[in-house]
Amino acid sequence: MKKIFFILSIVLFSFLLIHIACKPMTYADLILLNGKIVTVDSNFTIADAVAISKDKIVSVGTNSQMRKLTGRKTQTIDLKGKTVIPGLIDSHLHPESASLSELDEEIPDVHTIDELLRWIKIQTVTKERGKWIILPKFFSTRLIEMRNPTLYELDSVAPDHHVFLNGSFGGMVNSAAMKISGITYKTNDKGIIKDRKTGLPTGFIRASAFDLLKVPQQKEHSYQEKEDALKEMLNRYNQYGITSLFSGTGDFESVKMYRDMADNKILTARIYQNILLKTDGKITKESVTEKLKNYEHITGYGDEWVRIGSLKVFLDGGILTGTAYMQEPCGKKANQIFGIEDPSYHGVINFSREELLAIVSVANEFNWSFTVHATGDGSVNLILDVFSEVNRSKSIKDKRFSIIHGNFFSKVAMKQINELVVYANVQPAWFYKDADAMEYILGKEKIKTFHPNKSMLDAGVMINGGSDHMVKWDANASINPYNPFLAIWTMVTRETERGTVICPAEAISREQALKIYTINNAFASFEESIKGSIEPGKLADMAIISEDILSCPVNKIKDIVSVMTIVGGKIVYSSARQF
Ligand SMILES: [Zn+2]
Repeated sequence: MKKIFFILSIVLFSFLLIHIACKPMTYADLILLNGKIVTVDSNFTIADAVAISKDKIVSVGTNSQMRKLTGRKTQTIDLKGKTVIPGLIDSHLHPESASLSELDEEIPDVHTIDELLRWIKIQTVTKERGKWIILPKFFSTRLIEMRNPTLYELDSVAPDHHVFLNGSFGGMVNSAAMKISGITYKTNDKGIIKDRKTGLPTGFIRASAFDLLKVPQQKEHSYQEKEDALKEMLNRYNQYGITSLFSGTGDFESVKMYRDMADNKILTARIYQNILLKTDGKITKESVTEKLKNYEHITGYGDEWVRIGSLKVFLDGGILTGTAYMQEPCGKKANQIFGIEDPSYHGVINFSREELLAIVSVANEFNWSFTVHATGDGSVNLILDVFSEVNRSKSIKDKRFSIIHGNFFSKVAMKQINELVVYANVQPAWFYKDADAMEYILGKEKIKTFHPNKSMLDAGVMINGGSDHMVKWDANASINPYNPFLAIWTMVTRETERGTVICPAEAISREQALKIYTINNAFASFEESIKGSIEPGKLADMAIISEDILSCPVNKIKDIVSVMTIVGGKIVYSSARQF
């Protein structure tokens, strides 16, 4: 009897053990079944299903494996074959200013001189005489005609209003704007471009002279207005599968706002906030040390919602206003388009080599990751030279330094970037919008070095993809378009807005482009172990998308939208569309 009781106990105990072993530790909160899960793991594995518990991915695999994690409270979504990708990460944009850009009035999407003049004319009717008509982020090279309106054209549609077409690094004003600002042929400022023959201002103005313009103070928005606008903007990003972003230029104030939003659980995208180094006066190692000593935190501080990004400086101007610092002068066509009189002019540079050396070496000492706005090949070469020198005294290789924009990369620069483990933070939207103008201005040879993505990847360079979204809210009509699928399509096809295919040999695969918007960008923020791919243990950030990005007809890639976007296991966006 005793023996039988003993055997029974053993059997019962074994059953209990088996039961405990088979029972999952926890059931999933959300399971996505019957889909094509593009994991973007190191083998680019495709799975059927994924399970999420709280804010993390707990399992990825087959439908039957995931079904075992179904409990009474588990929400299950039948994907019906739809594709799921890791949440997209935009490596460079400006949500704080973009979110406010159309709060008071819509910014027009003009493509021709005629459309532009018509818009100005309408403004003169709706705005009182003597008011300013300001068009932000206006780039004449993006008009079909690839030129600024003439002073005569501007004056003829707006004789009594002050017009300012602001292209950030350069712009165009009309006579009324010059008159009220006291700009005449006598104004002695290098930023006021004058006609060589007549000596009269042409209306073309460089950023260095923007301060002369008596533009009205920008309307101040309240903290609440700013936060509400930002929340809306992040929601728009979510509609395109974006779950994380690098805020390109900011300060500790913007970090605070994002932090507040995170604490109030209204943040729907994770933020990596670059901090602009504000320099004034003489720049020396001592002056930079003094500045950085007072900064509360460095790169990486924060949590998975809000983190301090890189320390940033602006090294040059922009390619769309002829102010990018180029290795060689840009030639006759550039001079014509950008109103450059001096044939040896090759752009604007904001720091000397010594100053840069002081900034970068001190930033490196303070353990900041460092990033730089450098749009021309001259500034890319200069910063790489400085990075090399700094690296000789203290390695920068584990700091993930980066170059924002870059645009033109020679083979030598690629090699150097790879050796120094510097990341290339590029904007495919610029290729889409501007490659035609760049080819026209710089010629067939130089254009080969414009966004040479395939050569860069072949050289081992880590490419990060971002939009540089600055103004307007529409994903495709904004400046610059923040639709990441349009960017991916551009990298895959090398096709521009004007329908030309430029240097098709530099096209990359869909998989490579997807990595550029996911895992590569996770690396750039030192977060590759927590996001950028769909793998167990990582944050549950992903998007169910409208088409299979890996196999749909290539032209459909740019029309993809998110059907459902999930951030930290929570559905932050869901379209009305059924799937
Ligand atoms: Zn930017």
